[in-house]
Amino acid sequence: MRTQRQVVDYSLRKRAALRELLAGRVGTYDLCDASPYLKNAARFHGEPTDQRCPICRSENLTLVHYIYGDELKQSAGQARTVAELSVLAMTLREFQVFVVEVCLGCDWNHLVEQYLLGRDGLTGGVEGGSEQQTASGVAAAGGADARRRREAQR
Ligand SMILES: [Zn+2]
Repeated sequence: MRTQRQVVDYSLRKRAALRELLAGRVGTYDLCDASPYLKNAARFHGEPTDQRCPICRSENLTLVHYIYGDELKQSAGQARTVAELSVLAMTLREFQVFVVEVCLGCDWNHLVEQYLLGRDGLTGGVEGGSEQQTASGVAAAGGADARRRREAQR
């Protein structure tokens, strides 16, 4: 999407979680804990992918996009389809998107990335995404990751 900015990629964190699982340090019950809300969001607002689930390898992953921001008012924290996101991106100045991948087969779920959308990205000016900013963004997200995931699953 054209206004996408300040992207934080969580694929390293995901790979680390999968390594922990393979090493037996965590169980699938720790990682495959998608809530009924998250699974419903995946069914009704999710974006299907052709990527296989890394855990059960029998289902394809679905991406769920959660939106946050003051301008969203009562819609904050809800899931939206990609089509709805592009409309919002042209309407609102700025809002945060959290992308969670979900397997409807085994309940695997993980935060994939987060980014900002909105018209503010079109006016130029501050452009996120330099390596340094991205790295500090990840660091700052740190402990908030788990909390955000819980919020995202509500
Ligand atoms: Zn699965």
